[in-house]
Amino acid sequence: MSGPAPLGVVVDLDDTLYPQADYLASAAAAVGVAAGHAGLDGAAVHTALRSELAAGSDAGGTIDRALLAVGVPASSLAELVPPLVAAFTQHTPPRLAPYPGAEEALRVLAEAAPLACLTDGNPAIQAAKVAATGLGPLLPVVVVTDTLGGRALRKPHPAGLVAVAAQLGLPPERLLVIGDRPGKDVAVAAAVGARAIRVRQGEYATAPDEPRAWAVVDTFPAAAELALDQVRALARG
Ligand SMILES: [Mg+2]
Repeated sequence: MSGPAPLGVVVDLDDTLYPQADYLASAAAAVGVAAGHAGLDGAAVHTALRSELAAGSDAGGTIDRALLAVGVPASSLAELVPPLVAAFTQHTPPRLAPYPGAEEALRVLAEAAPLACLTDGNPAIQAAKVAATGLGPLLPVVVVTDTLGGRALRKPHPAGLVAVAAQLGLPPERLLVIGDRPGKDVAVAAAVGARAIRVRQGEYATAPDEPRAWAVVDTFPAAAELALDQVRALARG
């Protein structure tokens, strides 16, 4: 892709800076504990929920399906599900280790260019994840798309990237997006005419390159290095 060189860098959170599977495992364990308190077999619910989440973390109704899988009658779901959903959404993971080298790469990026994080999801959960990674101080600008107008504005809707651009004081098309999901991170960049670097990590590591990214790499530090080349090339003129 050609076009003007980027002036700022926007990073995704889940499966870009840390493995989202670690968060899901932690939240599923919390749901298992809550299920035990509700008189269910907590260990069985935990196991069933992990397998539902492994099948696709984006799908709704994972807790409903986990309860059905352990033999809870459908007629009991209306009573049992809400407190377990609350246990999931209110779970605060104690520590989420960033991918190897991600913290240092982010630090170097933050020194070289305006930097922001653009992420989808429940705002309280996304904030808890950022805190648990310890990367918060390197990410002074975090935009959670759901705070802009709910799920409809999740990536690839351009509203989030436009909001990030406004906060950074840059034109959206001069941002470089780094993220793991072609259908979200690459697509949102394309929606505003910006470049994207895809990182093949996490749940979507094997998804097709559709839409096609400006570059595809295997790790966040590799993506950050490419991004640095871009912003430094501009600084050199
Ligand atoms: Mg992601």
